[in-house]
Amino acid sequence: MVIRSKTLRLVILISTVLITLIIAIQLIWLQKVYMYEEKQFNINVSKSIRSLYTDMELVNDASDNGQKVIENINPDVYLLKIDCSPNLPQLWENLKAELTDFDVYTDCRASIYDPVQNKYVTEEYINLPDSYFPSEKENELQVYTRSYPYIALYFPHRGQYIIKQMLFWIASSGLLLLVLTGFGISIFYLYRQKFYNETQKDFVNNFTHEFKTPLAVIKIASDVLKQKNIIDKPEKLNNYAGIINEQTNHLQMQVQRLLEIAYTDRSHLPLEKESFNANELIQQSINDLQPYIEQKNAIVHTGFSIPVSIIKADKAYLRLCLINLIENAIKYAEKPVIDINTSIEGANFCISVKDNGIGIAPEHQKKVFERFYRITEGELRSSKGFGLGLNFVKKVVDTHNGKIEVKSELGKGSTFTIKIPRN
Ligand code: ADP
Repeated sequence: MVIRSKTLRLVILISTVLITLIIAIQLIWLQKVYMYEEKQFNINVSKSIRSLYTDMELVNDASDNGQKVIENINPDVYLLKIDCSPNLPQLWENLKAELTDFDVYTDCRASIYDPVQNKYVTEEYINLPDSYFPSEKENELQVYTRSYPYIALYFPHRGQYIIKQMLFWIASSGLLLLVLTGFGISIFYLYRQKFYNETQKDFVNNFTHEFKTPLAVIKIASDVLKQKNIIDKPEKLNNYAGIINEQTNHLQMQVQRLLEIAYTDRSHLPLEKESFNANELIQQSINDLQPYIEQKNAIVHTGFSIPVSIIKADKAYLRLCLINLIENAIKYAEKPVIDINTSIEGANFCISVKDNGIGIAPEHQKKVFERFYRITEGELRSSKGFGLGLNFVKKVVDTHNGKIEVKSELGKGSTFTIKIPRN
């Protein structure tokens, strides 16, 4: 179980890393496309401006051909030096024609700067035919002080225009990411499904094993008892009757387990509370486990804080909880020595089951209460189990509005403490 949940975590981790990597590459790639489009825009605007100079003779020294006369203040603003006052309607018309000729389809504000007054004296809003953006007035263009007149070209929506040009790339990247995420989620669900299927398979295998062995033993024992002369061998008879009795007890426990499983599947446990002496219940649970205690030569000590501890709880469920905790204490120890103590903490009654077993590593301590969670490494751990006992105990304690705590040190032992309200 642990190994599989590790694989599941690894699958999720690798998919996350891969998806993050692809997203990062995609973003870098989009940024490169943006820079390319930005450069292309700049080239196209420069070409339009040069053509404008050629068309309209805006400067005396035509050989300059835009080299010294164009100033690209920032990506949105170009200043075009002029030596004469141009024919304005013709200038606007030509400017519009040049921009469209060189595929610059975003709106532009053109202003004429007068160095004597140090301000823009004329302004024209050029809304190109395919311009995507509304022609509302944006912030005023800042005045750039120069000693000569110039035409300022300001493209207020340049950034958005470039992004619009990239729409196809953005959409295809988005689609790719969507497909990848869907793919990742599908892998996760498929793997989880596989994980549950295998858990279920394990569960059925374990259960079959748990039922098959006692049934086979009972069958052999009953065959022996059927022998004609068995009555003459009272010792043998007694022995085999004892075996049948023990195995039936074991089967009974397994059936009880099945019931627990059915209950742990439910979100709510129906409680039937009654008042009883908890010390007696603890003693009863120990008696229930007597054959197992003897088999493992376990030593069980009890320490009751007061001789009679009356509490109000679901007696049957609490007994199952104690049986689970004590059974684990025996199961997960080489030579079990178990201390069961009670105490009163405010409104709570506390029962602790302490063992000298193999202990639980810190990283597993919270998880052992999860359904089907088992720690499989180690010789003692390889004993058959379903990883449901502690989950059931926690469910019962939670339903009583109580708490379950575990303190454990690997190789030294564990103490499970349940605290439930006394009323
Ligand atoms: P199961 O015993 O059937 O595997 P549980 O839910 O009772 O299932 O316990 C879950 C896991 O917690 C066990 O697989 C075991 O490794 C660990 N565990 C439970 N109790 C103890 C204990 N007293 N000492 C050491 N390990 C324990």
